[in-house]
Amino acid sequence: MPEPSAKIIVLGSGTSVGVPTIGCHCSVCTSEDPRDKRLRPSILVTYGGRNILIDTTPDFRTQALRARIEHLDAVLFTHAHADHIMGLDDVRPFNFRQRHQIPIFAAENTMKAIQRVFQYVFEGVRKETNIPQLDPRIIDGAPIDLFGLQFLPIPILHGRDSIYGFRFGGAAYLTDHSEIPDASMDQLRDLDVLFLDALRYKPHPTHSTVDRSIKTVERLSPRRAFFTHIGHDLGHERAESLLPPHIRLAYDGLELEVNGHVPGASPIA
Ligand SMILES: [Zn+2]
Ligand SMILES: [Zn+2]
Ligand SMILES: [Zn+2]
Repeated sequence: MPEPSAKIIVLGSGTSVGVPTIGCHCSVCTSEDPRDKRLRPSILVTYGGRNILIDTTPDFRTQALRARIEHLDAVLFTHAHADHIMGLDDVRPFNFRQRHQIPIFAAENTMKAIQRVFQYVFEGVRKETNIPQLDPRIIDGAPIDLFGLQFLPIPILHGRDSIYGFRFGGAAYLTDHSEIPDASMDQLRDLDVLFLDALRYKPHPTHSTVDRSIKTVERLSPRRAFFTHIGHDLGHERAESLLPPHIRLAYDGLELEVNGHVPGASPIA
């Protein structure tokens, strides 16, 4: 069965502290360019009337309002750092509207951390107040079939931690990483769109940089690449002017059509 075409909406393109950064007066944090205002990193994948969220950032409420998300069918987690999970409680309005549990997918260690941080959600005690209604499901690297589109977990190294990026059809979203193992590189061929962490120019122990992610793009040759998880070292306009035309900086609100059934397919829009 052919996979559906999908739309990606960038809900947040910023690093863990967001841009502008609290207390900073640098040229990027004070920039008037709306593309320099970056909430914490997350995307929404939407197809066939379904909405799949990757990560629930501390800005999730703002992001959901801004993107006018009206229902949520599943959440995939990359890892349990605060900038990727702390908005989980804000899925409650979707529970109120949908009246069923929302499946959440994460590696076992990530799920354990989520269950520790949001203990009140998972302890199985009936509450007098409303809590998120979630159906936790552990992922182990096998593809996840969600409403006709397969999401393939891609192991990537985030410093010493192994976390997941996700490939779905012709797109892949690889946030926080310092290294992509060779076996994972092999799972990233023939992409239409590749999202990569590119925190800043200077090396960082747990994140990719602009130079490093350019090299990844050169090795994988996706049709288009977008850098994300961006800090305040990169002003959108200038940083983008230094990149080749098939590599762009993601920005909050960016929407892309991707073909769910690649190799080599051209985008729909
Ligand atoms: Zn992060
Ligand atoms: Zn700054
Ligand atoms: Zn992280």
